[in-house]
Amino acid sequence: MARKTRGPQQPPPADDDTEAMIQAAGLLPDKQIAEVLRFIRTDLNSEPGMAWLPPENATRPPMLWSGFLKGLPRRPCASPSGRLKVQWLAVREPRPLSRAILQRLQQDLRDGINKVLGLGAVPMAFRGIWNLDMIPYGRLSMTAEPGGGGFVWQYFHVVDVGAQDAPVPGIVLAVAQLVAEHADRIRVCQLHSCNVIFLANRHQEFCTTTHGQLARDQTKKKKGK
Ligand SMILES: [Zn+2]
Repeated sequence: MARKTRGPQQPPPADDDTEAMIQAAGLLPDKQIAEVLRFIRTDLNSEPGMAWLPPENATRPPMLWSGFLKGLPRRPCASPSGRLKVQWLAVREPRPLSRAILQRLQQDLRDGINKVLGLGAVPMAFRGIWNLDMIPYGRLSMTAEPGGGGFVWQYFHVVDVGAQDAPVPGIVLAVAQLVAEHADRIRVCQLHSCNVIFLANRHQEFCTTTHGQLARDQTKKKKGK
């Protein structure tokens, strides 16, 4: 998509999120989860269209995030232990998700990922379980097996309640599936002032090389004194 300079008062370029949906569906799963993690560290309270920022920090218009999240595939999947079972949940929502729903999703996804993977400062009592409590008719949770043995889903009956309320639980499910499949690569940045959740390569401990360098500099300073 072409990037143009826009005044802050002008509306986003498209009036639907279909294009972003199609693009999201075409991404490889590891690109999808990387984008989800980017979504949850984006502040939707800030003004959209900050095209001068580097891609890692750029804020997308809510419309594009809406399409991206709606385009995430709903598929049955299995954890490494083969015990992950997910009910297919179809979602049809013609309109883009509102900013309020996106902000709620950011909060709920961030919270759920932190808890189920035990990242950051999550109290012991909450570690290892993600309650997907936005499912309208039914209860669903994703629990981490001890020792990295995959994830177990537990649920009651889940109903697609129609266009008004369906997209959010469907999206949370799609994200939970991606999290389960990439759990060993989802980490929290070890720079104390950062703490963002990111998709790591091999032994990567910091979200960016800049933060790795910052942390090393801080350690050096401490040792030097
Ligand atoms: Zn960082």
